[in-house]
Amino acid sequence: MIRSLNSFDLKDKRVLIRVDYNVPIEDGVVKDAYRIQCSIPTIKECLESGASVVLMSHLGRPEGKFNEDYSLISVGEVLSDFLEIPIKFSHDCISEDAINVTIGLHPGEVHLLENLRFHNAEEENDIEFSRLLSKHGQIYINDAFGTSHRSHASNVGVTDNFTHKGMGLLMKKEIQYLQNKFKNPKEPLVLLLGGAKISGKIDLIENFLIDAKTILIGGGMTFTFLKAMGLDVGKSIIDEQMISVANKVIKKARQNRVKIVFPIDFIAADSIDKPSKIETISFDSIPTNMMGLDIGPETIKLFSKILQKSGTILWNGPMGVFEKKNFENGTKEITNLLSELKDENIITIVGGGDSASAIRKFSNIENFTHVSTGGGASLELLSGKNLPAIEALGKL
Ligand code: AMP
Repeated sequence: MIRSLNSFDLKDKRVLIRVDYNVPIEDGVVKDAYRIQCSIPTIKECLESGASVVLMSHLGRPEGKFNEDYSLISVGEVLSDFLEIPIKFSHDCISEDAINVTIGLHPGEVHLLENLRFHNAEEENDIEFSRLLSKHGQIYINDAFGTSHRSHASNVGVTDNFTHKGMGLLMKKEIQYLQNKFKNPKEPLVLLLGGAKISGKIDLIENFLIDAKTILIGGGMTFTFLKAMGLDVGKSIIDEQMISVANKVIKKARQNRVKIVFPIDFIAADSIDKPSKIETISFDSIPTNMMGLDIGPETIKLFSKILQKSGTILWNGPMGVFEKKNFENGTKEITNLLSELKDENIITIVGGGDSASAIRKFSNIENFTHVSTGGGASLELLSGKNLPAIEALGKL
């Protein structure tokens, strides 16, 4: 069994926590602190139990060498504000100096290490790098759900050096919502899927082809399905290689009595960036020179009706090119509708990535039951795959 944070005697211990502070930073300013905010309960729990805390994370892809743009210094400032205490910072995660700072920590103190990916050894899951990292703690806690689909030194290799290891409160919550909630969901379970690529979501769809009642499909992935059904999709985005897979999914859904609902109208244009013509069109009359870039008003009504009658909703992927004003309405309207459903006792669970960005753009994270901090990791867990960093902690 994987140990939970509250199963450890934390008093006077140094706890090494892998957090996910891979956050957007522009000109040294953290643009979205959601992941930092979500790490606070675990850190506070440790500090209040009399432990000192060492935090390690990666940020972006600095390719194995120091690069100021990927420094965690600005994350440290935000973290210090959340915790309302000053924190210590080391410029190299495995240097002797950094390890000495850790050894000198008093209970209640926090030490943030510089970006793990300034060393290639992190992504290589190097044994020696893992051993040096482990010198920072007597107990190891993994709370970095967003990286748990990767086998790296700080989340897999490092665990070999610890007898006392377990998961943090955020990791536990993510597993509870993205896995356990679907074992016995509040019925009916409705999936709302969108985004550009069907390839990344096909395993998820297959995994839910038994338990889901209805699957609503929007976004660019719609057109591969429409093509599979023999419809003309004009210039809309399709994935040729996935057409046969889409066909199989449609057949399997029919056999399992899972209803797949596709958009009945679209907002279409001749170009994403500089459209000279934008029209609302029916799903079966997309002109050859146009592409579907958002769901249309009739689809919004249709999807809303189904969503309002559900018990649990899993949402992953925007309904259109929501980054552009012209094509944001479908995602915006659906986000706003979903935001009201939590108060009607409907469980709303959102995979990370673009859907989480849409929520931040159009609504508020608090209006949802759970918004995952992981993009790729949440997709893999929802697809029924085992995540290496969770496996490294023991059996669930
Ligand atoms: P994904 O990573 O597969 O979830 O795709 C997310 C992206 O899908 C977003 O950046 C959207 O702009 C894009 N997207 C959504 N709907 C469409 C569409 N109809 N055509 C092209 N791209 C789309």
